[in-house]
Amino acid sequence: MCAKTSYGYAGAVLRVDLTRRKIVKQALPLEWCVKFIGGSGINDWILWNDVGPNIDPLSPDNELIFGVGPLAGSMLPLGSKVRVTTRSPLTGIFGDSNAGGFWAYELKRAGYDHLIIRGKSEKPVYIFIDDDNIEIRDAVHLWGLDVYETDEAIKNEVGKNVRTACIGQAGENQVKFASIMFDKYRAAAKTGVGCVMGSKNLKAIAVKGTKKIQVANPEKVEELAEDLRISLTSPGVRNWANYGTTSLCILYNEIGCHSVKNYQDAVAPEISDFPENFIDNFAKGNVTCSHGCVVACVHPWKIKEGKYAGESGGKIDYIIICSLGIHLGIYDVGSILHLQNLVNRLGLDATETGTLIGMLMELYQRGMLAPEISEGLMYEWGNPDVVEKTAEKIALRKGVGDVFAEGAVSTARKLNAEKYVCHSKGLTEVEDVRGFPTWALAYAISTRGADHLKAHCQIDKQQRADTSLRLFGAPDAGYPTTLNLKAKSIKYHEDFNAVINSLGICHFPALSLMLKKPKRAVYMGDYALLFSAVTGINMSLEEIAKCGERIVCLEKAYNARLGISRKDDTLHGRWMWEPCPSGLGKGMKCEDYLEKLLDEYYAERKFNPRTGIPTVKTLKEIGLEEVAADLVKRGVISE
Ligand code: SF4
Repeated sequence: MCAKTSYGYAGAVLRVDLTRRKIVKQALPLEWCVKFIGGSGINDWILWNDVGPNIDPLSPDNELIFGVGPLAGSMLPLGSKVRVTTRSPLTGIFGDSNAGGFWAYELKRAGYDHLIIRGKSEKPVYIFIDDDNIEIRDAVHLWGLDVYETDEAIKNEVGKNVRTACIGQAGENQVKFASIMFDKYRAAAKTGVGCVMGSKNLKAIAVKGTKKIQVANPEKVEELAEDLRISLTSPGVRNWANYGTTSLCILYNEIGCHSVKNYQDAVAPEISDFPENFIDNFAKGNVTCSHGCVVACVHPWKIKEGKYAGESGGKIDYIIICSLGIHLGIYDVGSILHLQNLVNRLGLDATETGTLIGMLMELYQRGMLAPEISEGLMYEWGNPDVVEKTAEKIALRKGVGDVFAEGAVSTARKLNAEKYVCHSKGLTEVEDVRGFPTWALAYAISTRGADHLKAHCQIDKQQRADTSLRLFGAPDAGYPTTLNLKAKSIKYHEDFNAVINSLGICHFPALSLMLKKPKRAVYMGDYALLFSAVTGINMSLEEIAKCGERIVCLEKAYNARLGISRKDDTLHGRWMWEPCPSGLGKGMKCEDYLEKLLDEYYAERKFNPRTGIPTVKTLKEIGLEEVAADLVKRGVISE
């Protein structure tokens, strides 16, 4: 089966080789859509086939793969996401990240579901996609500009109606945790995707398109879209529109899972008024970031007074508030917004920047920061100036910034300070997981390293025993600090999020819809209906769940091919060995329960419990026969 798709998808894959300056357009195989849905799933399949274990993340042969799912741009609410996939230069393993905004929609309207970039240009360039006309343009004059300046300069050159994906100075200088910024303010920040873009001398990708996206069954799509709109605007879920993820500032104080001053505490009363304070004094209304989305959870902001008066920005999320605020003892809203703008402009991952500086601040607190590392800066908690100066040094690789630019874990190893950085597989994350076994397991088994999104679950933190009962037949997944049903819940959520990420929709509201009262809750089967109505490819609940499982297992297999196994599905730093100081999980630490949860998780996945790798039988059962054969041939698994 290799026919071209006609509904939901644009139906094409665009390959750009920057070394040969060659541009090839290929039909999107229907078989890929049936097996991997789109977005992150098809990206994973391309990565598996094109980027083998001998390809260095910074070699021209590594690929930067952009993917848009079938629901993105379909006029259904939530369809805004683009996924970027690559072999990560930060961790050396599977890497990906996603971003919202209008770029995904524009790429699809230009006629492409996936854009694959390989090779390396001799000089800085940017790609301009204008429907069928694709140009590789000179970008020497843009090199050295920050993200906001680049966006503006490109719009001046090719027209205000383009959407841009840019790197800042961090990407140019191959900082290992550089981001790609979409529509100026929306970050694909994790795992160093911007570093790979910089290694290819690619400054930006500007897109505009005029094509229409057809759906297979317009009446059914409208019926399902209306149902979704009603659910998304009903009380409870509506909270996302009012506050977005900033409402987590309050919940996380109630249950105790903030990361305060590099995880030295888990509650931060100082941040409880953030949502109201932000909305009342900084937000300028709420807008949508995709056509047809009624949630409109984006709050553009402006600082009216104080040191940063006049600054404005796009969207603020909890993860920014934590990594550039709570984690560093900074609680002033204006300072956090200013620092968000700074990392956006430079093109740095806010989380990795925050965890790195948090470690430096703790070393300073303990009198352990050598003068050659501090370079005259006073790394005091709550000091935004020191964060600003350090971020600039990192992005420009100036002085000790050249060491920091390799990442928090690499820096910690050089400073003999590994106990002060929490991570999994070389990727750091904020949010304290010690008292929340569901989250500890999610971070440990995530294919891209410690991460709150790959197996994102809210059943435990929101204490939804009713949702647990409906999904798993017992309430225990809704009890946050116990171990029962946690492995089952993580397996479900990992598969569910793989489906959502492959459809190309926002998963925070999707998780909220899952938590609603049973009568109106939206589960995996509802997305099978949406997928079928949009694409015309009939997909049952069982089939779409299997797609999710297949996508997750493909990422696990990619990592297994690189030598990743059960020994790596773990956590490092004080998450593991230091009892949580406060909150519901006070006194808990991950080393006390993680191995038990891993045993249960591998049993749920039908993986080899000793290695934590999918077996031949499991891979064959989910239609990954070629993947099984490849792993057997390489001696990673045996028949
Ligand atoms: S839910 Fe929010 S982020 Fe997602 S598409 Fe709608 S407005 Fe954008």
